[in-house]
Amino acid sequence: MKTMQVQVSAMAHGGEALARHEGKVVFVPYVLPGEEVLVELTEERARYSRARPIEIIAPSPDRIEPRCQHFGTCGGCQWQHIVYERQATLREEILQSQLTRIAHLPDMSVERTLVAAEPWNYRNHVQLHLDEDGRPGFIAAEGRGVVPIAECHIMHPLLWDAFSALEIDFPDLERLSLRAGIATGERMLILETAGHTAPGIEVDLPISCVLLLRDGTPVTYVGDSYVTETLAGRSLRISAASFFQVHTSQAEQLLATVEKYANPQEDDVLLDLYCGVGTFGLYLSDKVAQVIGIDSSEPAIEDARFNAEGMANIRYLQGSAEDVLPSIEEAIDLVILDPPRQGVSKEALAALSSLAPSRVVYVSCDPATLARDTGRMIQAGYELVEVQPVDMFPQTYHIEAVALLRPSSQ
Ligand code: SAH
Repeated sequence: MKTMQVQVSAMAHGGEALARHEGKVVFVPYVLPGEEVLVELTEERARYSRARPIEIIAPSPDRIEPRCQHFGTCGGCQWQHIVYERQATLREEILQSQLTRIAHLPDMSVERTLVAAEPWNYRNHVQLHLDEDGRPGFIAAEGRGVVPIAECHIMHPLLWDAFSALEIDFPDLERLSLRAGIATGERMLILETAGHTAPGIEVDLPISCVLLLRDGTPVTYVGDSYVTETLAGRSLRISAASFFQVHTSQAEQLLATVEKYANPQEDDVLLDLYCGVGTFGLYLSDKVAQVIGIDSSEPAIEDARFNAEGMANIRYLQGSAEDVLPSIEEAIDLVILDPPRQGVSKEALAALSSLAPSRVVYVSCDPATLARDTGRMIQAGYELVEVQPVDMFPQTYHIEAVALLRPSSQ
């Protein structure tokens, strides 16, 4: 295979860094901007190549020794070789460059990343797969196959303890997840099968165990079909199939940022779009007149309704944003939206902007779709006022950011 020496110029979105060789872009994982690296070509395309590092000739001062023996083969972490403070500035640089390239906002300044007090052992939820020998692990860095793991430094200890005690003998098991309420200590093992029926199994762990059938129906073997987490003093029920933020203490920083940008007023009608179990709307419910939550997931909406019990000013609607938004009749003052990685569809975005809210707080887990949707909101008459990265995913390339948009005439 062809080797070459390259100078790394920047971190790209997606975990790899960017270098140039003879004018052509080369993507290289596990290196840092400023480094001189000997690489081996792994893929050659017309417009770019991919290569892997063989030798770091001139290391960056920000390079550190990765903690984990699986770093480089496991697909879970991409940035363990980077000192945590530099991970934060890289997130800002990537966000800035996505906003420049995709939303055409070269002058937009990005706030300093809100870093995590716990950059290790934080994840309250992990998804595991089985290798050919039935051992649980994570998807490999190249995307194919499973790396069975002997250690993990981003799993919360509550999950690591459960993981270490796992013994799996289950027919048709497709994948499994472990989940914990960090504040409550509650834990849950979630098994997912391609089958339509629930086989009899023995569970020896002191945690809840739920099987999700192919159609998503939960079958509870032991304990409850949910865990309870506490966020900013509020209890939230999170069922096996419902989404929840993976870094509990950082989720509180996320809430605080959302509140600051939302600037809730007591006569506001708040739309909590992609609301999940109700995280944002519940948190702000006593500061506004009314909350309407929308999510396509039935278990998430059931959790949200449970979490909002006894609160008269909250209403949840189950259905896709595309279907439900056009039926909203209330005048909406404030929208908080937290879409999945693929962002907001054109239809949902058009329906959203026709509600003409005076503040839109966009919580994003992907800077490329955030930039794309920001560009579309600008076309619809909004402007991007501020954008704040909040580090929900230390040691990985994932970037969470909160953006405030307002009608540009204001
Ligand atoms: N705001 C919540 C959940 C965010 S995750 C929290 O912080 O916990 C994104 C949510 O979007 C998921 O709950 C998912 O069920 C929902 N979702 C995905 N596509 C959707 C769509 N097209 N319309 C409505 N909800 C959707």
